[in-house]
Amino acid sequence: SEQLFFENKMEAGGYRGNKKLVKKLTENADESVAWLKDHGVEFMDYIYQVYGGLHPRTRNPKLHGGQSYIKALMECAQKLPITIRTNSRVVDIIREAPLEGRVIGVEYVTPDKRNHFIKAKRAVIAASGGYSANAKLCGLFDPRLEHLGTSNLPSATGEILNDMIDLGAQTVGMDYVQCVINKPKDQSTYVPLSIFVDYFIFVNWDGERFIKEDAARDVLCNAFLAEPKEEAFSVMDSKGFDVHCKVGRVEDLLKKSIKTGIVLEANSIEELAKKMGVPVSKLCQSVEAYNRSVDDKADALGRDPKMLVHKIETGPFYAARFAMARHHTMGGVLINEDAQVIDRKGNVIPGLLAAGEVTGGIHGNNRIGGNGIADIFTFGRFAGLTATK
Ligand SMILES: Cc1cc2nc3c(=O)[nH]c(=O)nc-3n(C[C@H](O)[C@H](O)[C@H](O)COP(=O)(O)OP(=O)(O)OC[C@H]3O[C@@H](n4cnc5c(N)ncnc54)[C@H](O)[C@@H]3O)c2cc1C
Repeated sequence: SEQLFFENKMEAGGYRGNKKLVKKLTENADESVAWLKDHGVEFMDYIYQVYGGLHPRTRNPKLHGGQSYIKALMECAQKLPITIRTNSRVVDIIREAPLEGRVIGVEYVTPDKRNHFIKAKRAVIAASGGYSANAKLCGLFDPRLEHLGTSNLPSATGEILNDMIDLGAQTVGMDYVQCVINKPKDQSTYVPLSIFVDYFIFVNWDGERFIKEDAARDVLCNAFLAEPKEEAFSVMDSKGFDVHCKVGRVEDLLKKSIKTGIVLEANSIEELAKKMGVPVSKLCQSVEAYNRSVDDKADALGRDPKMLVHKIETGPFYAARFAMARHHTMGGVLINEDAQVIDRKGNVIPGLLAAGEVTGGIHGNNRIGGNGIADIFTFGRFAGLTATK
Protein backbone atom coordinates (compact mmCIF):
# COMPACT_ATOMS: atom_id res chain seq x y z
CA SER A 1 0.00 0.00 0.00
CA GLU A 2 1.46 3.35 -1.06
CA GLN A 3 -0.41 5.06 1.77
CA LEU A 4 1.01 2.66 4.37
CA PHE A 5 4.50 3.07 2.90
CA PHE A 6 4.05 6.86 3.21
CA GLU A 7 2.89 6.60 6.83
CA ASN A 8 5.70 4.17 7.76
CA LYS A 9 8.29 6.38 6.12
CA MET A 10 7.07 9.59 7.79
CA GLU A 11 7.08 7.86 11.17
CA ALA A 12 10.51 6.27 10.68
CA GLY A 13 11.94 9.66 9.71
CA GLY A 14 10.71 11.25 12.94
CA TYR A 15 8.17 13.24 10.88
CA ARG A 16 11.11 15.39 9.71
CA GLY A 17 10.65 14.26 6.09
CA ASN A 18 9.23 16.70 3.55
CA LYS A 19 5.69 15.36 2.98
CA LYS A 20 5.64 16.23 -0.72
CA LEU A 21 8.95 14.49 -1.38
CA VAL A 22 8.01 11.48 0.74
CA LYS A 23 4.73 11.20 -1.20
CA LYS A 24 6.58 11.43 -4.49
CA LEU A 25 8.89 8.61 -3.43
CA THR A 26 6.28 6.32 -1.93
CA GLU A 27 3.89 6.76 -4.87
CA ASN A 28 6.57 6.12 -7.49
CA ALA A 29 8.99 3.60 -5.95
CA ASP A 30 7.09 0.66 -7.49
CA GLU A 31 7.39 2.30 -10.89
CA SER A 32 11.15 2.54 -10.30
CA VAL A 33 11.25 -1.23 -9.78
CA ALA A 34 9.35 -1.71 -13.05
CA TRP A 35 11.70 0.77 -14.78
CA LEU A 36 14.74 -1.11 -13.50
CA LYS A 37 13.29 -4.42 -14.71
CA ASP A 38 12.55 -2.85 -18.11
CA HIS A 39 16.20 -1.82 -18.25
CA GLY A 40 17.42 -5.34 -17.56
CA VAL A 41 17.90 -5.41 -13.76
CA GLU A 42 16.96 -8.82 -12.37
CA PHE A 43 15.65 -9.28 -8.82
CA MET A 44 15.41 -12.32 -6.56
CA ASP A 45 11.82 -13.50 -6.15
CA TYR A 46 11.47 -12.82 -2.41
CA ILE A 47 10.69 -9.77 -0.29
CA TYR A 48 12.32 -9.50 3.14
CA GLN A 49 12.95 -7.13 6.03
CA VAL A 50 16.51 -5.88 5.90
CA TYR A 51 18.20 -4.68 9.10
CA GLY A 52 16.89 -1.13 9.68
CA GLY A 53 14.14 -1.84 7.16
CA LEU A 54 11.37 -1.87 9.79
CA HIS A 55 8.94 -3.63 7.42
CA PRO A 56 9.22 -6.55 4.98
CA ARG A 57 9.48 -4.37 1.89
CA THR A 58 13.02 -5.05 0.67
CA ARG A 59 14.07 -6.60 -2.62
CA ASN A 60 17.46 -8.08 -3.45
CA PRO A 61 18.84 -7.76 -6.96
CA LYS A 62 20.36 -10.96 -8.36
CA LEU A 63 23.97 -9.81 -8.21
CA HIS A 64 25.66 -8.70 -5.03
CA GLY A 65 26.57 -5.18 -3.90
CA GLY A 66 24.99 -3.03 -6.60
CA GLN A 67 26.45 -4.90 -9.59
CA SER A 68 23.01 -5.70 -11.05
CA TYR A 69 22.18 -2.00 -11.39
CA ILE A 70 25.55 -0.91 -12.76
CA LYS A 71 25.82 -3.80 -15.23
CA ALA A 72 22.31 -3.44 -16.67
CA LEU A 73 22.28 0.36 -16.82
CA MET A 74 25.80 0.49 -18.27
CA GLU A 75 24.65 -1.82 -21.08
CA CYS A 76 21.71 0.53 -21.75
CA ALA A 77 23.95 3.62 -21.67
CA GLN A 78 26.35 2.03 -24.13
CA LYS A 79 23.52 1.61 -26.64
CA LEU A 80 22.71 5.33 -26.38
CA PRO A 81 24.82 8.38 -27.24
CA ILE A 82 25.91 8.76 -23.62
CA THR A 83 29.52 9.52 -22.74
CA ILE A 84 30.70 8.44 -19.30
CA ARG A 85 33.90 10.17 -18.23
CA THR A 86 35.69 8.33 -15.44
CA ASN A 87 38.78 9.74 -13.67
CA SER A 88 37.12 13.13 -14.08
CA ARG A 89 36.63 15.12 -10.90
CA VAL A 90 34.04 17.87 -11.11
CA VAL A 91 35.53 20.91 -9.37
CA ASP A 92 32.90 23.53 -10.10
CA ILE A 93 29.31 23.96 -11.18
CA ILE A 94 29.04 27.11 -13.26
CA ARG A 95 26.19 29.61 -12.96
CA GLU A 96 25.75 32.75 -15.06
CA ALA A 97 26.32 34.98 -12.01
CA PRO A 98 27.23 33.97 -8.42
CA LEU A 99 23.68 33.84 -7.05
CA GLU A 100 21.73 34.50 -10.22
CA GLY A 101 20.83 33.14 -13.63
CA ARG A 102 20.99 29.66 -15.09
CA VAL A 103 23.40 26.90 -14.25
CA ILE A 104 25.21 26.46 -17.53
CA GLY A 105 27.77 23.71 -17.09
CA VAL A 106 30.56 22.10 -15.09
CA GLU A 107 34.31 22.24 -14.84
CA TYR A 108 36.25 19.05 -14.25
CA VAL A 109 39.86 17.97 -13.85
CA THR A 110 41.55 14.89 -15.28
CA PRO A 111 44.52 13.07 -13.69
CA ASP A 112 46.92 14.96 -16.00
CA LYS A 113 45.79 18.07 -14.04
CA ARG A 114 44.06 19.58 -17.08
CA ASN A 115 40.83 21.49 -16.57
CA HIS A 116 37.89 20.84 -18.91
CA PHE A 117 34.48 22.48 -19.30
CA ILE A 118 31.16 21.02 -20.38
CA LYS A 119 28.33 23.32 -21.43
CA ALA A 120 24.94 21.91 -20.43
CA LYS A 121 22.43 21.69 -23.25
CA ARG A 122 19.47 21.36 -20.90
CA ALA A 123 20.53 21.00 -17.27
CA VAL A 124 23.18 19.87 -14.81
CA ILE A 125 22.04 17.00 -12.58
CA ALA A 126 24.05 16.60 -9.38
CA ALA A 127 24.13 12.93 -8.34
CA SER A 128 27.34 13.06 -6.32
CA GLY A 129 26.23 11.19 -3.21
CA GLY A 130 26.48 12.12 0.45
CA TYR A 131 29.21 13.20 2.87
CA SER A 132 29.58 10.20 5.23
CA ALA A 133 33.29 9.97 4.46
CA ASN A 134 33.80 13.58 5.54
CA ALA A 135 34.48 13.07 9.26
CA LYS A 136 34.85 16.77 10.00
CA LEU A 137 31.61 17.81 8.27
CA CYS A 138 29.62 15.03 10.00
CA GLY A 139 31.32 15.85 13.32
CA LEU A 140 30.25 19.45 12.97
CA PHE A 141 26.63 18.35 13.11
CA ASP A 142 26.99 15.38 15.49
CA PRO A 143 30.30 15.42 17.41
CA ARG A 144 29.78 11.81 18.56
CA LEU A 145 30.36 10.61 15.02
CA GLU A 146 33.64 12.27 14.04
CA HIS A 147 35.91 9.49 15.35
CA LEU A 148 33.89 6.67 13.76
CA GLY A 149 34.80 4.95 10.50
CA THR A 150 32.60 4.99 7.42
CA SER A 151 30.95 2.22 5.45
CA ASN A 152 30.66 4.54 2.47
CA LEU A 153 32.93 5.33 -0.45
CA PRO A 154 36.03 7.44 0.20
CA SER A 155 34.56 9.80 -2.40
CA ALA A 156 31.50 10.58 -0.23
CA THR A 157 32.98 13.89 0.88
CA GLY A 158 30.35 16.42 -0.19
CA GLU A 159 32.30 18.93 -2.34
CA ILE A 160 29.54 19.12 -4.94
CA LEU A 161 27.05 19.77 -2.17
CA ASN A 162 29.23 22.70 -1.07
CA ASP A 163 29.43 23.95 -4.66
CA MET A 164 25.63 24.01 -4.80
CA ILE A 165 25.51 25.88 -1.49
CA ASP A 166 27.91 28.44 -3.03
CA LEU A 167 25.45 28.82 -5.92
CA GLY A 168 22.69 29.67 -3.45
CA ALA A 169 21.12 26.25 -2.76
CA GLN A 170 19.15 25.74 0.45
CA THR A 171 20.08 22.72 2.57
CA VAL A 172 17.91 20.59 4.80
CA GLY A 173 18.60 18.02 7.53
CA MET A 174 22.40 18.28 7.46
CA ASP A 175 22.69 16.97 11.02
CA TYR A 176 20.90 13.72 10.21
CA VAL A 177 23.81 11.33 9.69
CA GLN A 178 22.91 7.66 9.67
CA CYS A 179 25.28 5.12 11.16
CA VAL A 180 25.12 1.38 10.61
CA ILE A 181 26.72 -1.68 12.03
CA ASN A 182 30.20 -2.14 10.67
CA LYS A 183 33.59 -3.52 11.66
CA PRO A 184 35.24 -2.31 14.85
CA LYS A 185 38.29 -0.14 14.14
CA ASP A 186 40.77 -2.87 15.20
CA GLN A 187 39.27 -5.41 12.76
CA SER A 188 40.37 -5.63 9.13
CA THR A 189 37.16 -6.90 7.51
CA TYR A 190 33.46 -6.18 7.88
CA VAL A 191 31.45 -9.41 8.02
CA PRO A 192 27.73 -9.11 7.19
CA LEU A 193 26.53 -11.26 10.06
CA SER A 194 23.75 -9.03 11.42
CA ILE A 195 21.49 -8.64 8.39
CA PHE A 196 18.56 -11.03 8.88
CA VAL A 197 16.99 -9.51 11.95
CA ASP A 198 14.72 -12.44 12.82
CA TYR A 199 17.71 -14.76 13.35
CA PHE A 200 20.04 -12.98 15.79
CA ILE A 201 20.34 -11.01 19.01
CA PHE A 202 22.79 -8.25 19.92
CA VAL A 203 24.63 -8.56 23.23
CA ASN A 204 27.13 -6.18 24.83
CA TRP A 205 30.46 -6.93 26.52
CA ASP A 206 28.46 -7.97 29.63
CA GLY A 207 26.75 -10.69 27.57
CA GLU A 208 23.42 -8.89 27.89
CA ARG A 209 20.90 -7.77 25.32
CA PHE A 210 20.63 -3.98 25.46
CA ILE A 211 18.44 -3.02 22.48
CA LYS A 212 15.69 -4.60 20.38
CA GLU A 213 17.44 -5.76 17.23
CA ASP A 214 14.64 -4.60 14.92
CA ALA A 215 14.91 -0.98 16.12
CA ALA A 216 15.36 1.85 13.65
CA ARG A 217 18.96 2.59 12.69
CA ASP A 218 19.17 5.82 14.69
CA VAL A 219 17.90 4.03 17.80
CA LEU A 220 20.44 1.21 17.30
CA CYS A 221 23.21 3.76 16.80
CA ASN A 222 22.36 5.64 19.99
CA ALA A 223 22.29 2.34 21.90
CA PHE A 224 25.71 1.24 20.55
CA LEU A 225 27.26 4.64 21.26
CA ALA A 226 25.97 4.49 24.83
CA GLU A 227 27.93 1.25 25.48
CA PRO A 228 31.34 1.82 27.15
CA LYS A 229 33.27 0.37 24.18
CA GLU A 230 30.61 1.48 21.63
CA GLU A 231 30.51 -2.16 20.45
CA ALA A 232 28.26 -5.23 20.49
CA PHE A 233 28.19 -8.83 19.25
CA SER A 234 25.58 -10.48 17.07
CA VAL A 235 24.81 -13.99 18.28
CA MET A 236 22.97 -16.65 16.30
CA ASP A 237 22.72 -20.39 15.81
CA SER A 238 23.45 -22.54 12.76
CA LYS A 239 20.08 -21.73 11.16
CA GLY A 240 20.82 -18.01 11.30
CA PHE A 241 24.36 -18.56 10.06
CA ASP A 242 23.06 -20.60 7.10
CA VAL A 243 20.58 -17.86 6.15
CA HIS A 244 23.32 -15.21 6.28
CA CYS A 245 25.58 -17.46 4.13
CA LYS A 246 23.01 -18.50 1.53
CA VAL A 247 20.37 -15.75 1.32
CA GLY A 248 23.00 -13.12 2.11
CA ARG A 249 25.24 -14.74 -0.53
CA VAL A 250 28.41 -14.32 1.51
CA GLU A 251 29.19 -17.95 2.35
CA ASP A 252 32.84 -17.75 1.25
CA LEU A 253 33.52 -14.59 3.26
CA LEU A 254 31.81 -15.87 6.40
CA LYS A 255 33.54 -19.27 6.28
CA LYS A 256 36.91 -17.61 5.67
CA SER A 257 36.21 -15.29 8.62
CA ILE A 258 35.81 -18.27 10.95
CA LYS A 259 39.38 -19.24 10.07
CA THR A 260 40.69 -15.70 10.70
CA GLY A 261 38.78 -15.55 14.02
CA ILE A 262 36.58 -12.60 13.04
CA VAL A 263 33.53 -14.86 13.16
CA LEU A 264 33.52 -16.99 16.31
CA GLU A 265 32.13 -20.54 16.14
CA ALA A 266 31.38 -22.83 19.09
CA ASN A 267 29.43 -25.98 19.87
CA SER A 268 27.68 -24.49 22.89
CA ILE A 269 26.68 -21.06 24.17
CA GLU A 270 29.11 -21.52 27.10
CA GLU A 271 32.01 -22.13 24.73
CA LEU A 272 30.91 -19.19 22.55
CA ALA A 273 30.85 -16.86 25.58
CA LYS A 274 34.40 -17.88 26.46
CA LYS A 275 35.58 -17.17 22.91
CA MET A 276 33.82 -13.78 22.94
CA GLY A 277 35.27 -12.91 26.36
CA VAL A 278 31.87 -12.15 27.92
CA PRO A 279 30.48 -13.60 31.21
CA VAL A 280 29.32 -17.18 30.47
CA SER A 281 26.32 -17.14 32.82
CA LYS A 282 25.09 -13.79 31.45
CA LEU A 283 25.21 -14.90 27.82
CA CYS A 284 23.42 -18.16 28.67
CA GLN A 285 20.71 -16.20 30.50
CA SER A 286 20.36 -13.78 27.59
CA VAL A 287 19.90 -16.58 25.06
CA GLU A 288 17.48 -18.48 27.34
CA ALA A 289 15.41 -15.33 27.97
CA TYR A 290 15.30 -14.57 24.25
CA ASN A 291 14.19 -18.14 23.45
CA ARG A 292 11.41 -17.84 26.04
CA SER A 293 10.27 -14.60 24.42
CA VAL A 294 9.99 -16.48 21.10
CA ASP A 295 7.64 -18.95 22.86
CA ASP A 296 5.69 -16.14 24.53
CA LYS A 297 5.73 -13.84 21.48
CA ALA A 298 6.61 -11.05 23.91
CA ASP A 299 10.03 -9.50 24.39
CA ALA A 300 11.12 -7.40 27.38
CA LEU A 301 13.02 -5.06 25.05
CA GLY A 302 10.00 -4.69 22.75
CA ARG A 303 11.13 -6.67 19.70
CA ASP A 304 8.21 -7.04 17.29
CA PRO A 305 6.44 -10.43 17.70
CA LYS A 306 6.94 -10.92 13.92
CA MET A 307 10.68 -10.90 14.66
CA LEU A 308 10.27 -13.48 17.44
CA VAL A 309 10.27 -16.56 15.23
CA HIS A 310 13.60 -18.37 15.41
CA LYS A 311 15.10 -19.57 18.66
CA ILE A 312 18.85 -19.68 19.11
CA GLU A 313 19.07 -23.39 19.88
CA THR A 314 20.77 -25.45 17.20
CA GLY A 315 24.55 -25.57 17.35
CA PRO A 316 27.06 -24.68 16.24
CA PHE A 317 26.62 -21.14 17.50
CA TYR A 318 28.18 -18.00 16.03
CA ALA A 319 29.12 -14.49 17.08
CA ALA A 320 30.77 -11.48 15.48
CA ARG A 321 31.71 -8.09 16.92
CA PHE A 322 30.43 -4.81 15.50
CA ALA A 323 30.74 -1.06 15.92
CA MET A 324 28.92 1.82 14.30
CA ALA A 325 30.17 3.59 11.18
CA ARG A 326 28.90 6.66 9.36
CA HIS A 327 26.85 5.26 6.49
CA HIS A 328 24.37 7.62 4.90
CA THR A 329 23.68 11.33 5.15
CA MET A 330 20.00 12.19 5.09
CA GLY A 331 20.72 15.90 4.65
CA GLY A 332 21.56 17.72 1.47
CA VAL A 333 20.22 20.28 -0.94
CA LEU A 334 16.52 21.04 -0.96
CA ILE A 335 14.73 19.90 -4.11
CA ASN A 336 11.12 20.03 -5.24
CA GLU A 337 9.12 17.07 -6.57
CA ASP A 338 10.63 17.58 -10.03
CA ALA A 339 14.16 17.32 -8.57
CA GLN A 340 14.86 21.03 -9.18
CA VAL A 341 17.25 22.55 -6.63
CA ILE A 342 15.68 25.31 -4.51
CA ASP A 343 17.66 28.37 -3.39
CA ARG A 344 17.66 30.09 -0.02
CA LYS A 345 14.93 32.49 -1.16
CA GLY A 346 12.66 29.59 -2.08
CA ASN A 347 13.14 29.89 -5.84
CA VAL A 348 14.15 27.20 -8.31
CA ILE A 349 17.79 27.51 -9.46
CA PRO A 350 17.27 27.34 -13.23
CA GLY A 351 19.14 24.51 -14.92
CA LEU A 352 20.21 22.76 -11.70
CA LEU A 353 18.71 19.41 -10.71
CA ALA A 354 19.78 16.98 -8.02
CA ALA A 355 18.93 13.41 -7.07
CA GLY A 356 20.06 10.82 -4.59
CA GLU A 357 22.06 11.18 -1.43
CA VAL A 358 23.21 14.72 -2.27
CA THR A 359 19.63 15.86 -1.58
CA GLY A 360 17.86 16.22 1.78
CA GLY A 361 14.36 16.08 3.18
CA ILE A 362 13.33 12.70 1.79
CA HIS A 363 14.29 10.44 4.68
CA GLY A 364 13.69 12.78 7.63
CA ASN A 365 16.09 11.98 10.44
CA ASN A 366 16.33 8.26 9.66
CA ARG A 367 16.50 6.47 6.32
CA ILE A 368 14.68 3.13 6.29
CA GLY A 369 16.94 0.29 5.12
CA GLY A 370 16.41 -0.29 1.39
CA ASN A 371 15.04 3.21 0.76
CA GLY A 372 18.37 4.56 -0.51
CA ILE A 373 18.09 2.71 -3.80
CA ALA A 374 14.36 3.49 -4.03
CA ASP A 375 15.21 7.19 -3.58
CA ILE A 376 18.02 7.42 -6.13
CA PHE A 377 16.15 5.67 -8.92
CA THR A 378 12.87 7.47 -8.28
CA PHE A 379 14.25 11.01 -8.05
CA GLY A 380 16.90 10.16 -10.64
CA ARG A 381 14.13 9.29 -13.10
CA PHE A 382 12.27 12.52 -12.31
CA ALA A 383 15.46 14.57 -12.63
CA GLY A 384 15.94 13.04 -16.08
CA LEU A 385 12.33 13.75 -17.07
CA THR A 386 12.60 17.35 -15.85
CA ALA A 387 15.83 17.81 -17.81
CA THR A 388 14.11 16.66 -21.00
CA LYS A 389 11.46 19.36 -20.51
C1 LIG B 1 27.92 -0.24 2.13
C2 LIG B 1 26.59 0.33 1.72
C3 LIG B 1 25.51 -0.51 1.53
C4 LIG B 1 24.29 0.00 1.16
N1 LIG B 1 23.25 -0.86 0.97
C5 LIG B 1 22.05 -0.37 0.60
C6 LIG B 1 20.98 -1.25 0.37
O1 LIG B 1 21.10 -2.47 0.49
N2 LIG B 1 19.79 -0.71 -0.02
C7 LIG B 1 19.62 0.64 -0.18
O2 LIG B 1 18.53 1.07 -0.54
N3 LIG B 1 20.63 1.50 0.02
C8 LIG B 1 21.85 1.03 0.41
N4 LIG B 1 22.87 1.90 0.65
C9 LIG B 1 22.66 3.33 0.37
C10 LIG B 1 22.75 3.59 -1.11
O3 LIG B 1 23.79 2.81 -1.66
C11 LIG B 1 23.00 5.05 -1.37
O4 LIG B 1 21.92 5.78 -0.84
C12 LIG B 1 23.11 5.32 -2.86
O5 LIG B 1 24.17 4.60 -3.44
C13 LIG B 1 23.34 6.79 -3.11
O6 LIG B 1 23.40 6.94 -4.52
P1 LIG B 1 23.89 8.25 -5.18
O7 LIG B 1 23.89 7.98 -6.64
O8 LIG B 1 23.15 9.40 -4.67
O9 LIG B 1 25.41 8.43 -4.68
P2 LIG B 1 26.66 7.44 -4.80
O10 LIG B 1 26.22 6.04 -5.03
O11 LIG B 1 27.50 7.76 -3.61
O12 LIG B 1 27.36 7.93 -6.13
C14 LIG B 1 27.92 9.23 -6.22
C15 LIG B 1 29.01 9.18 -7.26
O13 LIG B 1 29.44 10.49 -7.52
C16 LIG B 1 30.85 10.50 -7.59
N5 LIG B 1 31.35 11.84 -7.25
C17 LIG B 1 31.25 12.51 -6.08
N6 LIG B 1 31.85 13.70 -6.16
C18 LIG B 1 32.32 13.81 -7.43
C19 LIG B 1 33.05 14.82 -8.14
N7 LIG B 1 33.40 15.97 -7.56
N8 LIG B 1 33.36 14.60 -9.43
C20 LIG B 1 33.02 13.43 -10.05
N9 LIG B 1 32.35 12.43 -9.44
C21 LIG B 1 32.00 12.63 -8.13
C22 LIG B 1 31.29 9.45 -6.58
O14 LIG B 1 32.59 9.00 -6.86
C23 LIG B 1 30.23 8.39 -6.80
O15 LIG B 1 30.60 7.49 -7.81
C24 LIG B 1 24.12 1.41 1.01
C25 LIG B 1 25.20 2.27 1.20
C26 LIG B 1 26.43 1.73 1.56
C27 LIG B 1 27.57 2.69 1.79
